[in-house]
Amino acid sequence: MSTSSLLRLDLGRLILLLAIASALLTLANLFYASYQVQRQLLIDSTLEANRVYAAKLADSAHHFLLAAQRQLAYSAVRLSGRFDDADALHDEVQRLKQQAETFNSTFVVGADSRLRAVYPSNLALGTLLATTGTREALRERRPLMSLPFVSATGRLIIMLSQPIYAPDGSYLGFLGGSLYLKEKSALHTLLGEHYYRDGSYLYVVDRQRSLVYHRDPERVGEVIKGNPAIDAVVRGEAGSMRLTNSWGIDMLAGYAPLGTSGWGVVAQRPTEMTLAGLDGLMLTTLRNAIPVTLISLLGIWWLARLISRPLWQLANTARNMDSQTASGDIRSVRAWYFEAAQLKRAMLTGLTLLQQKIGKLNLDTLTDPLTGLFNRRGLQMTLERWQDSERPFAVVALDIDHFKRINDNHGHDVGDQAIRHMAQLMRDTSRGNDVLCRNGGEEFLMLLPEASLDAARMVAERLRARMESSLTPGVGLATVSLGVAHWPASDRDIDTVLKMADQALYAAKQQGRNRVMVAAAGGAR
Ligand code: GH3
Ligand code: MG
Ligand code: MG
Repeated sequence: MSTSSLLRLDLGRLILLLAIASALLTLANLFYASYQVQRQLLIDSTLEANRVYAAKLADSAHHFLLAAQRQLAYSAVRLSGRFDDADALHDEVQRLKQQAETFNSTFVVGADSRLRAVYPSNLALGTLLATTGTREALRERRPLMSLPFVSATGRLIIMLSQPIYAPDGSYLGFLGGSLYLKEKSALHTLLGEHYYRDGSYLYVVDRQRSLVYHRDPERVGEVIKGNPAIDAVVRGEAGSMRLTNSWGIDMLAGYAPLGTSGWGVVAQRPTEMTLAGLDGLMLTTLRNAIPVTLISLLGIWWLARLISRPLWQLANTARNMDSQTASGDIRSVRAWYFEAAQLKRAMLTGLTLLQQKIGKLNLDTLTDPLTGLFNRRGLQMTLERWQDSERPFAVVALDIDHFKRINDNHGHDVGDQAIRHMAQLMRDTSRGNDVLCRNGGEEFLMLLPEASLDAARMVAERLRARMESSLTPGVGLATVSLGVAHWPASDRDIDTVLKMADQALYAAKQQGRNRVMVAAAGGAR
C-alpha cells in the first residue's frame, strides 16, 4: 500500500473497516459454531433413533421366534402318541400352518430322515431329506433354530424344529416349520413394515454374520465382513456407532442382539442423507440473520461517522491553521467526547499562542526599537492598506533642527534622548488612529487619516510650538522643522505625496528652520 492510499484511510473508514470485519467475523464464527452443533445434534439424534429402532425390532423378532417355537412345541406334544397316524400328522401340520401363518411351510420328519407329513404338500411323502437343517435337527434332538440353508425345494430358508418323543420317551423324529428368507414370510412382514425411513433401513444377521433379512432379497445369505456394528451385535452387544460399512459408505448405525439366538438387528442411515437437510437449515438461519446484520452494519456506519467526524474536522482545520477562519473553524467543531474535546482545547490554545507569537514578531519587524514608533516597513504596510481602501490622509514630515550639533555637543546618547523626546511629543499631539513613524535618524512622519491639509498644518504647528516651548532632556532648547502634504492631491501616487511633504520640509529648513510649510499641488507653498 502506498503512502497516499494509506493517507486516504481516515479514522471513519478505519473504524468502519474494523467494526465490519469484527461483525462479519463474529457472524461467521457463530454460523460455523451453530453448524457444528446442529450437525452433531443430527448425528446424535439419528444414532439414538436407530439404536431404539434396532432394539425394538430385535425385541419384536425375538418374541415372534419364541412364539413360533412354542407353537411347534405344543403340536409336537400333541403328535407324541399319534406318530404313526398319517392323517393326524397331516391335520396337525395343516392346522399349524394355517392357524397362525407363522411358517411358510410345516412338516414332520421321521427319525429315518423321511418326510412324514408336509403342508403345503409340495414334496412327495417318504422323500428322504438330507438338508443341513434336517440333519442337524435329527442329530441334536432338541428345539432348534437352524442357520440359513437351502431346502429340499431349493429355497433359502431357516427352520425351527421341535423333537417328537413317543410317550415311552423314544425319539420319533421332529416337527419343523420353515421361514423363507428370500420370499414373503411372517418374518418379512414383521421386519419390512418399517424398513424404510428417510434413507434408513435395517437388516438382520445370524451368528455367522450372514444376512437373514435385508430389504434387497438378492443379498440375503451374503456374509458381511468388516462391519463393526455387525461384529458388536454378534457378540451380543447393543448400542449405536458411526461406521463405514462393507461398501465404504459412512453410516450411522444402531444395533441390538435378538435374544440369545446370536442374531442381531442393525438399523442404519447414511450420514450424508442425515446431514442433507442441514445445508437448507443453515441457509434459512443465514437468511434470518441478514436483516439484523444489515441493520447493525448501518448502525456501525453511522456510529463510525459520528465518532470520526470531530477528529476529521479538527484534522481538516489543522491543515489550514494559517487561515483567518482557523480559530472559528475549530470552535465550531462539535467535540462530543473526551479525546476530541481535549484535542479541540489543545488546538485552540496552540492557535492562540501561535497568533500571539506571530503578532509580536510582526510588531517587532514593523516598529523602531528606540522610539516604539513604526519603522519604514510599518509605514509601508500602513500606506499600502490605506491606498487599497482609498482612505484619504495627510502627511507631516519633520526633522530636528541642527541635530548634528546636538550630537556633537552632548554626545550620541543625549541625541538618542532627544529623538525619544520628539517621539513623545508626536504621540502627545496626535489622535489614536494617527500613524507615527521614525523614518530614519532624527526624521519622522505622521500620517493623519481623514485629516484635511489645513487640519494637518494645525497639528504640525502645535507640534512645532511644543518642541520650541519644551525642554529637550540634556539639551535644553531644540526646534523642529515640518512639511505638510495631502493624499490624494494632484497625484494619486503615494510616493509623490511623501516627496511633496519632504520638499515642504526642505523649504522650511531653507527659510530658517523651526517652521511649518505646506505643500501646494504644484510644490511647496
Ligand atoms: P538640519 O537642521 O539641516 O537638519 O541640520 P542637522 O544637523 O540636523 O542635519 P541632518 O538632519 O542632516 O543631520 C542628521 C544627523 O543625525 C546625522 C547623524 O549623525 C545624526 N543621527 C542620525 N541617526 C541618529 C541616531 O540614531 N542617533 C543619534 N544620536 N544621532 C543620529
Ligand atoms: Mg535629518
Ligand atoms: Mg536635522
